[in-house]
Amino acid sequence: MKSILKLMAGAAIIASMHSAAIAKDLVIGVSWSNFQEERWKTDEAAIKTALEASGDKYISADAQSSAAKQLTDIESLIAQGANALIVLAQDSDAIGPAIEKAAAEGIPVVGYDRLIENPAAFYITFDNKEVGRLQASEVFKQKPEGNYVFIKGSSADPNADFLFSGQMEVLKDAIDAGKIKNVGEAYTDGWKPENAQKNMEQFLTANDNKVDAIVASNDGTAGGAIAALDAQGLAGSVPVSGQDADKAALNRVARGTQTVSVWKDSRELGKKAAEIAAALAAGKTMDEIEGVQTFDGGPKGVAMKSVFLAPLAITRDNLNVVIDAGWIAKEETCQGA
Ligand code: BGC
Repeated sequence: MKSILKLMAGAAIIASMHSAAIAKDLVIGVSWSNFQEERWKTDEAAIKTALEASGDKYISADAQSSAAKQLTDIESLIAQGANALIVLAQDSDAIGPAIEKAAAEGIPVVGYDRLIENPAAFYITFDNKEVGRLQASEVFKQKPEGNYVFIKGSSADPNADFLFSGQMEVLKDAIDAGKIKNVGEAYTDGWKPENAQKNMEQFLTANDNKVDAIVASNDGTAGGAIAALDAQGLAGSVPVSGQDADKAALNRVARGTQTVSVWKDSRELGKKAAEIAAALAAGKTMDEIEGVQTFDGGPKGVAMKSVFLAPLAITRDNLNVVIDAGWIAKEETCQGA
């Protein structure tokens, strides 16, 4: 009995030493633009899990697609005692004053997934240009010539232009050679699938349905474009790209109505962002972040401390990668359907 008690006391001491060693009790405030795409709940879960593991606290706000609400959300996260912020910006320009405010109060900011071009913010994302290259390459493999449509992302999101420039890198030679014709190109307001569908309907009408390939910038907009194709009996005969490895998109890839989705393991992005935010809040400098690099490819050319993760193209041929990674269950992909 005595020895058991001794053992238990020992365990308690070790437990308390352990928690003293890891618990930082920092408050990390995360400002989400919205949860429109399936991926953001995965990102959120990863951030929460990482913060729980380090003994820090997750608080959050959802701007519900309003750039104005996001400004007050960030003020409120600061008022609630956030020691660092992670921000998924709805609008890269409109977010400016909130970043300035955080910087003035000495609160580190991590720009999450989308560039906030202010050197006061750290920048963590996937290589978005590379996402664009992968999208265009897979579509190009199917259709090396013909009429191409570009369904771009939201103009308020710098990723839209990064993606498009990656797409253009791949297609430029064929465009210059006259093999590929750009017969329609539009931003998708708010990345909304219904806006992508409307734009696609117009491009189909304007081209008498003679569209040979669609480079859509994410899975949501791909879904909208494919709905427009479907209405004309064209789904499955026109290659379409996307990104995010949404469940619905992986189903379309399995069925053959979508050619490619680019997978970005947002579980990794979320975990890394949480760790970086906590490290900065605990006093680390940006230069001390593991793997930090300087990125100055934004519209204003500002040098940003950043970490980029690598994306991967998922087609019908390698769907097993996302299954093996536990991203989606095999039954959920409708393989062979
Ligand atoms: C992200 C994509 C996402 C899109 C819409 C982009 O900034 O990189 O993964 O699909 O926003 O939320």
